[in-house]
This record gives sequence, C-alpha cells and structure tokens, in this order.
Amino acid sequence: MNRLLVLEMIRQHRPVSRAEVSKLSGMSATAIGRIVGDLIEGGLVRETDQYSSGVGRRATMLDIDIHSILSVGVEVDRNVAKIGLIDLDGNIVAQRRYELDRSSAQPEPIIGMIADAVGGLAGEQGLDMSKLIGVGVGMPGVMDPASGTAVFSAQMGWSNVTFAPMLAEKLGLPVVLDNDLKVKALGESGTAAISGDSKTALISIGSGVGSAIVIEGKIYRGANNIAGEIGHSTIDPNGKLCECGKRGCLQTYITDLAMLQEAGQIKPVASIAELVALMKSGETWADNIIDRACTYIAITINNVVCTYNPDTIVMAGSFIDIDPEILERVRGKLKEFIWEPFVGTFQLTRSRLGEQAIMIGAAKLALQQYLGNGLIQQ
Ligand SMILES: [Zn+2]
Repeated sequence: MNRLLVLEMIRQHRPVSRAEVSKLSGMSATAIGRIVGDLIEGGLVRETDQYSSGVGRRATMLDIDIHSILSVGVEVDRNVAKIGLIDLDGNIVAQRRYELDRSSAQPEPIIGMIADAVGGLAGEQGLDMSKLIGVGVGMPGVMDPASGTAVFSAQMGWSNVTFAPMLAEKLGLPVVLDNDLKVKALGESGTAAISGDSKTALISIGSGVGSAIVIEGKIYRGANNIAGEIGHSTIDPNGKLCECGKRGCLQTYITDLAMLQEAGQIKPVASIAELVALMKSGETWADNIIDRACTYIAITINNVVCTYNPDTIVMAGSFIDIDPEILERVRGKLKEFIWEPFVGTFQLTRSRLGEQAIMIGAAKLALQQYLGNGLIQQ
C-alpha cells in the first residue's frame, strides 16, 4: 500500500522532489528512496532535472507519464458489456460497449467480446499490448477475487464460473474479478486515481439494495467478500416475507419490486418511473409509497454511518437516479434519523462518475493489484 500511496502523491503533485514526497507522506527519506527506485525501474515514474520551486537550487524532480501504462476496466451485467482503457489519472482513453441478450450474456461470448475489444482498442490507439498491465472486471453477484470465480450471480444466471482465469488465458493478461458495487465504490472513493485516504460508503437502491465500503483506497471485503450485502439486514422480524425466506429484510421495503407491489394494492403500476409520475401528478398514495421508501433509505444511511463512520456516502442505483427529488427527500429526513454524534461527519453525494464508475473502479482495482502484487490471476 505504501507504493500506491507514493505513486498517488507523485501523480497529484508532479513534478515533485523526493524530499517533498517524504514530507507529504511522513515516510523516511530512505523508505521513499527505495519505493521511488522501484517505481522508476517499473517505468511508472521518471526523473526530470528542474528547479524546485522556492528553493532556487537544482533538484532532481520526479514526474509521471500518465500513459506509461494503462489498465483495462470492464463492466458486465445482464444487458451490457463495457470495456475501457484507463490511464493513471483514472481517465478513459478509449472504450467500447456491447449490448447483450440472453444468448450472448454467457461466459464464452462475453470473454470473446472483451478479448476483441482489448485488442481492437489497443490497435486503434497504436498501443503495444505490453503497456496494458491487467484487466479488472466488475460483475453483479457474489464474486471471489482470490480465485477469480463468479460464485453466484442471480442477474447473470451463473454459478461457479471461473471467469477471471478463462479471460486471463484468452488475453494473456492478468485479470481480477470483483463484485460490481465494490469496484463502483472504489471508483467513487475520492478523486485519487490510484490510492486515497477517504472512507467512502456507497449505497445502491434499485432492483436490489446493496452497499460497499472503501477504506483508505482499499475495498472492505469481510471474510467472504460479501460485506455490505445490506439488502437482507433485518428491519422487522415480523415484517413481510423476503425471497430469502426470512421476514422483514430491508429489501422488502425499498426495492423497485417492493414499491410496485405496494402500489398494486391501489392499481397496477408498471414501473418506478410511472409511480414517480403519479406522485408528481398529486396522487397521495403514490407519494406515500415513495416517501416511506425514502424514510427507510434514511434509516439505512443511519445504520451504515453508525457501523462504518464514513466521511462520504455516495448514493447510487436506478431509484436514486430516476429523479433528483428522491435524494433531496432522503436528505430532508436525515435530521430525524441520523444519530446526533454523526450529524455533520459525512457528505451525502450522488455518483461522481455516473455510468462509467464500474469500469473506472475495475481498472483501478487492476492497477492496485499490479502495484501491490495482490490477488490477480496470471
Ligand atoms: Zn431477505
């Protein structure tokens, strides 16, 4: 993690001297010398001869070539596969998008698409494949980054698919696979493209409910990489029966399906967009359903804040994105539901990267694995 931290500092403050990096990081000059040596050897950092500001004497400065290496970020879900080449500033250099249907949303066709896209994008950009350090993939469901297996994905209809090793073999590049919300939270965690010091929680509400936590640039996984699956946290033991067989899970209150089922007691409503339109046209019952969901979202935020004490909460998902009024209504309820010691300790924001967050976060994970020699599949 020190290597990531030093690279992030050079990236943000470039050009910068070793002495300044040592001061900024609080690490010793010896430690900085060693880490910088590694980064130069790896071709990530180069030395330039410049005057350091304010001192007036020549000093060797460190700079970074943002395009010296690129990582590949991939988002896969039931409907779409997005593949992007991402630079060290976390910017998209080039990308491709494929629409998926029932027959193409299978492991082999998707692996073929990703391989085509990576080769094609590199060719278009005139890039040597050796510049690509690896691939990060974000996918909905329970993923095991250690083995690269999609353990279970209800959305994809997959179980125990060894996706990362298969893709790594096809591409000849290291591949890391992780849950989509976890890499999304990594993408959204602060403006740092590589590491970071924020404590970010992402809460997503739509067809399902989930959350993910990134602490100081690292995804918090728990023992089985399922930390943050708050959809099945219990709100009321006597509540409605959930698909998991327990009663009163959070997702029986705030998912699209839960709201549409409630609405169905008054009249059939086909979509959340229709429900929001009914609310806006002054239907009190539609307003009540949405207001109740917003109350449970505020309660969820309080529970996450009490558990993790984040400095930032990023709200995402189709229900939040459908209309700006939803998040404003949730914000209005926080005063009532946030426990007093936590008031003012966190920022509640909307997604900064929007639709690109999973792709950018997945590429960031691949870069972290490359630099940290972590879980990546060779
Ligand atoms: Zn449940």
